[in-house]
Amino acid sequence: MLVLVINCGSSSVKYNLIDTSDERNLCKGLVERIGAVTSIVKHEPEGQRHTKSTRTIANHSEALQEIMSYLLDPDNQIIESPSDIKAVGHRVVHGGEMFKDSVLIDDDVTKAIEQAFDLAPLHNPPNLRGIQAAQKNLPDIPHVAVFDTAFHHSLPNKAFLYGIPNRLYRRYKIRKYGFHGTSHYFVSRQYYKETGEKAQDTKVITCHLGNGASIAAVDGGKSVDTSMGFTPLSGLVMGTRSGDIDPSILFYLIEKEELTLANVHALLNRHSGLLGVSGYASDMRDLIEEADNGDRRCQQAIDLFCYKIKQYIGSYIATMNGCDAIIFTAGIGENAPLIRQESLAGMDYLGIEVDEEKNTNAERGTVQKISTDSSKTDVYVIPTNEELVIAIDTAKIAQAADQSPWV
Ligand code: ADP
Repeated sequence: MLVLVINCGSSSVKYNLIDTSDERNLCKGLVERIGAVTSIVKHEPEGQRHTKSTRTIANHSEALQEIMSYLLDPDNQIIESPSDIKAVGHRVVHGGEMFKDSVLIDDDVTKAIEQAFDLAPLHNPPNLRGIQAAQKNLPDIPHVAVFDTAFHHSLPNKAFLYGIPNRLYRRYKIRKYGFHGTSHYFVSRQYYKETGEKAQDTKVITCHLGNGASIAAVDGGKSVDTSMGFTPLSGLVMGTRSGDIDPSILFYLIEKEELTLANVHALLNRHSGLLGVSGYASDMRDLIEEADNGDRRCQQAIDLFCYKIKQYIGSYIATMNGCDAIIFTAGIGENAPLIRQESLAGMDYLGIEVDEEKNTNAERGTVQKISTDSSKTDVYVIPTNEELVIAIDTAKIAQAADQSPWV
């Protein structure tokens, strides 16, 4: 089944056109800077010339029109008719407590996504705008929402409750939700597939290290804890997000620097993390290069990043009373041997040993085992593919809807 996967940010639309029968990605692309005078449009058809151009794209609906007209352009030979696309899968960041699984989007689902605006003010509103824009452009096919939070629905109470008055959980649903669920799900499944291990007998720790970064403890195939929380701000140090900090720092700063709520929000989400600590960049490639050139603050940022990863891994080994495999994925996890090495250095007490040569030479874009033969815990690099998870879930739900007498 041909599925269009859509991931909308406040000023961007990413898309992938995936054939779920052979899991091929026929075309992917990105419309960026929507609403600015010059928007950037990139299309990357499989096995054909990639294009990048600029034009004015006023809103998400126009972005969808641009994507559809590219896919339908006879010169590009991707699809012949809109009806070739059988369903659209939408990445939705926050499903709140309501959505344990992906769902067919109807009016009730749309309302529930809207109700979760408060929980994810940066993500859910543009996600919904993307859904509405795609429904307008492709009105006659099923649209499915796939939630970043869904995989973490299995967290037990003790992992998702915060140490604050319980009425705040009951009234406002303040609890840990966790994010990057499709990625943690995908790489753990790839690990079972690769090794033949049975999900129910296996304990793995999945490290999704991109601009946003999170770690999950996956026991018996289910997420039992994860580093992001009520929002994607907590946990590891990230590109521009602080990760965990003592909340009292905020009271102190609000007084000292007379910060407003908006200032605090920007400080922790956009000016902290690797960028804030290094004072130089949020991009790991830049930091590694400058640290190599002797920049002390870039080195500190890298050290802090790796230290937090190590701490979470240690705590999740305790959570699960063991760990069969640690998996690295996403931009940094897949491409930065230095970060993998540093994060797991000095963990021989727990029996974790990275093979330096295998780690350094790990071929990109493929599943690679990078631990020594004597390591008690295996260490893997597994490329993530969140879009494929969304496409497969969407195809399943669209097929079921097609066969249901009620739809
Ligand atoms: P996003 O969360 O935006 O999807 P990605 O998963 O694409 O992020 O990861 C982006 C991060 O991956 C950036 O910090 C980038 O520097 C890092 N990265 C990509 N390639 C490399 C590399 N070869 N070495 C080190 N870091 C890399």
